[in-house]
Amino acid sequence: PRQFVVHRETDILKDYTMGPKLGSGAFGSVRVGTHKISGQQRAIKTIKKSSISEDQLVKDKFFAEVEVLKTADHPNIVRLYEFYEDQLHFHLVTELVKGGELFDYIVSSKNLSEPVAAHFFKQILSAVNYCHSNGIVHRDLKPENLLLDRQDSSATLKVIDFGTSIVIDHSKRLTHRYGTSYYIAPEVLKKNYDEKCDIWSCGVILYILLSGKPPFYGETDSEILSRVEKGVYQMKGATWDRVSVNAKNLIKSMLNMKPQDRPSASQCLESNWLILMPEATNQAS
Ligand code: ADP
Ligand code: MG
Repeated sequence: PRQFVVHRETDILKDYTMGPKLGSGAFGSVRVGTHKISGQQRAIKTIKKSSISEDQLVKDKFFAEVEVLKTADHPNIVRLYEFYEDQLHFHLVTELVKGGELFDYIVSSKNLSEPVAAHFFKQILSAVNYCHSNGIVHRDLKPENLLLDRQDSSATLKVIDFGTSIVIDHSKRLTHRYGTSYYIAPEVLKKNYDEKCDIWSCGVILYILLSGKPPFYGETDSEILSRVEKGVYQMKGATWDRVSVNAKNLIKSMLNMKPQDRPSASQCLESNWLILMPEATNQAS
């Protein structure tokens, strides 16, 4: 059963010993915390109340993350266990994912074999399918927000960072521009989109998993975005010659300029590439 505990007016340092920093960003910092009684290690994301009161957007993002994660229950979505509020801070206590970002794994291995890429990609799609089935759109899927439980080609993957996520009401279109240039869908730039924006980002991620390079690239953000707007990318050259037709077809379908013609996450899971792919377990990466 899913458990989520809220502690008000409680000093988190009574319960947890704070360890090294795992990352930092829009919200403040993420650190390792050790639960004093059980010895359990967690990731603790902390935000200063003062930064929230100054910035409505930061506040909205923080609470969007709490709202989504407190009920999400999926093996490929990071678990939120506790929420602390003390005089100066809010803290989110989540599952500690120890193997680092998928981003770093790709960088260290250049490009992955198809079975290994499929092993990770299935887990991403499975999380996205769960989100979309529950009306949740993530809006910032990228390899920095995908963590591995160990640095290994058979690792379990967890989607994190629901600070840009939203629960959609199907009568309304989404109009806020969120996301990161390499991964952002063209319709998001036009501020009229739905959950299919996540499918585009997954298509970009699959392209990177198989080639080590982003499909839409450039020296500057505007150069990248102008390629995204036109939807121009290529799958030529020695790297792509070695990639299967099924993988390329899946990428093409996900990077369709028309969101309504892109497959859903569950259709991607049923794609020939994933259905016919052998398990990665005994393959080298
Ligand atoms: P931001 O909104 O600032 O990007 P994230 O939730 O993405 O915040 O966290 C920033 C970084 O901290 C991540 O990219 C990751 O490296 C690290 N991190 C976040 N959550 C965890 C976790 N549960 N386990 C391990 N590392 C984490
Ligand atoms: Mg992040």
